[in-house]
Amino acid sequence: MKNLVLFGPPGAGKGTQSEKLIEKYGFVHISTGDLFRAHIANNTELGKRVKEYTSNGMLVPDQVTIDMLQEEVSKHPEASGFLFDGFPRTVPQAEALDAFMQSIGSAIHYVIALDVTEEEVRARIDKRRLTSNRVDDEAEKVNKRIDEYYDKTIHVLPHYEAQGRLARVHGIGEVAVIFADLCKILDA
Ligand code: AMP
Repeated sequence: MKNLVLFGPPGAGKGTQSEKLIEKYGFVHISTGDLFRAHIANNTELGKRVKEYTSNGMLVPDQVTIDMLQEEVSKHPEASGFLFDGFPRTVPQAEALDAFMQSIGSAIHYVIALDVTEEEVRARIDKRRLTSNRVDDEAEKVNKRIDEYYDKTIHVLPHYEAQGRLARVHGIGEVAVIFADLCKILDA
């Protein structure tokens, strides 16, 4: 089983590339953002707890996120590989993921960071706002999400770099070219 973390700031193209990777490699897609949005839409207890954070562009507390992720992974014992999208977003989440994967006899095999400048992600989210229907795509919330990324999430990179698992892909340009670069790493 090969597992991949697809990493990058909000608007880096993680969702778009995830769809293509799932289609090609058959990963089970675990997007913590999608899971939170589904809980909120279904008005579950978890949804009620996290709504305030997600709608304001703030990270959900680590333990809540980690518990939800572990539960989701455990639902797929048949998976031949997981694609983690939007997780881990803090160093404690990365450490918890390492420990959890080890506990189920697995590991994170690839971490690929989509390198996109802050200017580019802002421009993309501005565009996405017109069609996404996401409350956290409003300008002020986007600022908070980007701040959270540079404050907390970016520190996950050295964690995986130290493990020798980090690869970087230039994330600006044609979707198909970026996808081909991702595939080169996974097929190597
Ligand atoms: P995303 O769709 O990945 O941009 O996530 C949307 C929102 O869900 C984020 O702004 C956070 O509020 C929350 N969220 C998603 N993943 C995480 C995570 N790994 N840790 C904490 N909060 C998260």
